[in-house]
Amino acid sequence: MRDERAGAALYAQGWRRDAPLGRLLAPVCLAPRPQGSAVTGTVPTIVLRLERLTKAFGDLVAVREVTLDIHDGEFLTIVGPSGSGKTTLIRMLVGMERPSAGDLFLEGERINDVPANKRPTCMVFQTLALFPHRTVGENVEFPLKIRKTPRAERKARALALLQLLRLPAEYYGRNVMHCSGGERQRVALARALAFDPEILFFDEPLSALDFRLRKTLQKELKDLHRETGKTFVYITHSLEEAMVMSDRIAIMRDGRIEQIGSPDEIYSAPVNRFVAEFMGEVNLFSVRAGGDGRLDFVDLGIGLSAPAMALAPGEARTLMVRPDAMRFLTPGETADCVVEGTVFNEYALGSRHQYSVRVGDLTLSVEKLREDRYLGALDATVLIGWDLEDTYLLGAER
Ligand code: ATP
Repeated sequence: MRDERAGAALYAQGWRRDAPLGRLLAPVCLAPRPQGSAVTGTVPTIVLRLERLTKAFGDLVAVREVTLDIHDGEFLTIVGPSGSGKTTLIRMLVGMERPSAGDLFLEGERINDVPANKRPTCMVFQTLALFPHRTVGENVEFPLKIRKTPRAERKARALALLQLLRLPAEYYGRNVMHCSGGERQRVALARALAFDPEILFFDEPLSALDFRLRKTLQKELKDLHRETGKTFVYITHSLEEAMVMSDRIAIMRDGRIEQIGSPDEIYSAPVNRFVAEFMGEVNLFSVRAGGDGRLDFVDLGIGLSAPAMALAPGEARTLMVRPDAMRFLTPGETADCVVEGTVFNEYALGSRHQYSVRVGDLTLSVEKLREDRYLGALDATVLIGWDLEDTYLLGAER
């Protein structure tokens, strides 16, 4: 509710930069801005720079010294558990919260003290903050109206935005309360785009929608990002949502960013146990280097020769093995690591099947493709194996 009022206030005050008229009239002309690319060797342009940005509420530090560059035209998602500081961070970025310490630069200019209505940014809330009992057209045109855009031009731009958001033109005159949840979501997006903001911020806008609609809108948002070429900064609890949509993901914990990178980088090389577990089902083992190339699996009570692990003698770390890297061994089959366990349960996940296998006090997760699934009985004793080349050594915990 607080955000809804604040959102309405943001719109009501309006950001008064004179947007190029007609820019949104022809969505096909909204070519994506070029982003930096590791492949082409281009360097991304930094649109927003956060330097040691901090927010404390009394003794509680909600955001701790976050340093981060947001690239022009990227889709950045900030993901983290409840209370990790995502909303507080994004509220500072749009100017709804003043930083306690640190700096915020927009295209090189310090904007710590610039109020929300003077920033070229726009926020889309979970609650959408639409004006009820007004038409779709009135909602979408609102930012244009407060900028005193002539009526005919307002309507043309609103219709172009409805088209961009895949809403039929007939919806222009429809009461927004007579739209479905997904349609209202699109109206809110169209209104945000009517601001023609430099950066669009999204605070969990899809979390109240049902699973199928959420899936559809995730793809539509990603398409919209490509079509408009704008910078999108999105926050969510859902890592899956982050993976589907983002160019980069920042993972937050306790007010800090634990890791930032492409979905692929974060998936394949999590920096620590928190990120690895946040990324989904993984097997994590405490390992210790025994010297002379020996690696001891502390919780399994097994050791093996692993000279390639390059750990100092006595060094303790966490080793990650993804469920699909684990195998049910057939008689005579070997692997670098082999343990005996009992199959406790099976979970069908569509194209894949997952199994929990108890090994002493540990429960391992093993995943197979459906056509390759385990056909033995539950409670059967099995041999589970995996190879060191399919493991990943996590960094030292902070
Ligand atoms: P969620 O996903 O549940 O929305 P979040 O990651 O967005 O959580 P924040 O809402 O930023 O987290 O909250 C971070 C911490 O700051 C929490 O402990 C929260 O209680 C606290 N907090 C946020 N806003 C305020 C406030 N205005 N006054 C006091 N504490 C606050």
